[in-house]
Amino acid sequence: MTAARSLKTVGDLAAAGLLPEDRLTAAAAVAGRYAIAVTPAVAALVDPADPADPIARQFLPDPAELVTLPQERADPIGDLAHSPVEGIVHRYPDRVLLKAVHVCPVYCRFCFRREMVGPEGLGTLSPDALDVALSYIAGRPEIWEVILTGGDPLVLSPRRLEEIMLRLAAIPHVRIVRFHTRVPAVDPERVDAALIAALKASGKTVYVALHANHPREFTEAARAAVARIADAGIVLLSQTVLLKGVNDDPAVLAELMRTFVENRVKPYYLHHPDLAPGTAHFRLTLAEGRALVTALRGRISGLCQPAYILDIPGGHGKVRADAPEVEEAGDGCFRLRDFRGVAHFYPPE
Ligand code: SF4
Repeated sequence: MTAARSLKTVGDLAAAGLLPEDRLTAAAAVAGRYAIAVTPAVAALVDPADPADPIARQFLPDPAELVTLPQERADPIGDLAHSPVEGIVHRYPDRVLLKAVHVCPVYCRFCFRREMVGPEGLGTLSPDALDVALSYIAGRPEIWEVILTGGDPLVLSPRRLEEIMLRLAAIPHVRIVRFHTRVPAVDPERVDAALIAALKASGKTVYVALHANHPREFTEAARAAVARIADAGIVLLSQTVLLKGVNDDPAVLAELMRTFVENRVKPYYLHHPDLAPGTAHFRLTLAEGRALVTALRGRISGLCQPAYILDIPGGHGKVRADAPEVEEAGDGCFRLRDFRGVAHFYPPE
């Protein structure tokens, strides 16, 4: 069915025929803990007759989310430990995250920032906080790249986005602006001429990293939205989270990566799922993820190969999860080194 507006409550999901009667009580308990939003484009993609539907699994509340394991953490990749001022995460010397907004068009059930996003989350940066965040960037000549993430930065109005882009334009050492977003796939009509003009307002080189996890997310409308961005001269990259029951299959991953490439999106990151609370039902082991990535090699063109990445829990940065130096350490545990050369174990004790 096609919803006219985003579905944000269990009642909305039930009325749209997306949740059966016998799941409503459990879904309400999940909704009391984590935000829900399903756009009309996503609602139309869900197959309510399929209990294993990979779209439903990503966006509809599941009672398994109420089970938090001891190794799961509210801030799995350590954003807060690397946040010198509100809205900035400065983990690596030459780049920062600028989190202007903590709202998303959809709330993914596996989200690594699920404790920070949504109506109860960290909200939108106030004008004063944005001034401080931009001053932080302006005062550090080593910052070459600014990554707008959140939340989803493309939920900001074109006017707000343009304002941020023009202020970044005035910082000469910032050369690259990157956006992390699900909007082109989950709310494609939002990608209009005004939004694209805002993305280009700074005159800087702009990259858009599109988060999509299953080939079915590439509807005709999503493909058209991606094409509007590519036609504007903006380079698109992909981001995918490796998720049990969604894309943990070499055939699905191969089709997804080919679909990205066919739509002018260069496969970039395949993320190992983070230790976010209530997400154990999505998580593969590192050994399973490495086997899936090995199965992709040779099966699809080099153009379609993403980098398989683990964010080392606790904010130690990213590591190639399939690199030869990631060693098995027994009992399903792996030993790996962060970009500073410090050793860590995954999963952590
Ligand atoms: S769009 Fe990104 S930040 Fe928002 S809920 Fe999904 S994974 Fe989390």
